[in-house]
Amino acid sequence: MDRQKVLLALQARGYEAVAFQTGREAAAYLDEKVNGRLVGFGDSETLISIGLYALLARHNDVYDPQHPRDGMDFFSTAKKCLLTDIFFTSVNGMAETGEMVNIDGTGNRIAGSLFGHEKVYFVVGSNKIAPTLDEAVWRARNEAAPLNAARHHYKTPCAVRQDHCYDCRSPQRICNAQTIYWRKMNHMAMEVILIEEPLGF
Ligand code: SF4
Repeated sequence: MDRQKVLLALQARGYEAVAFQTGREAAAYLDEKVNGRLVGFGDSETLISIGLYALLARHNDVYDPQHPRDGMDFFSTAKKCLLTDIFFTSVNGMAETGEMVNIDGTGNRIAGSLFGHEKVYFVVGSNKIAPTLDEAVWRARNEAAPLNAARHHYKTPCAVRQDHCYDCRSPQRICNAQTIYWRKMNHMAMEVILIEEPLGF
């Protein structure tokens, strides 16, 4: 990955964009930037792997479907996350030309990333980056989705075989919508945090 080229491509599409060598450095940066806010998380292995929830929860009001509060479940937490001040998520693929791709089964991750906040942060490991949009879409469908299905212990053909997408009709299919982020959404700040480590799926 040519880090500078990716940062410039993202900035040309309206995003703020910064890069860090490690997840630890990225988490420290975000911990400093977000203080005293209502925060929502999209379901993201990347966010879990950099330990962001624990850091932010010390000085923000944080809702994360992975950490439901007493009396709340995944769905009530995910709904709460849709209208927070700040929203954090990742992507399943990113092109070096700046387009990003997400696939979702329930919709909370995609919905939260598009509307309803002052600012959305996309936290993206180096494994998500592909040379072109076509290759980023391919990666989201054939690499990220099978790994995500396996994480949930689903019995989809991709989770069992771990080779590619079978465009399945499984009741546990996790690919019900795909979003391509061509540019920053209007009326909302968006910042991409690139990390030069493989993180998430
Ligand atoms: S459509 Fe089905 S087989 Fe393809 S990646 Fe999604 S869950 Fe796996």
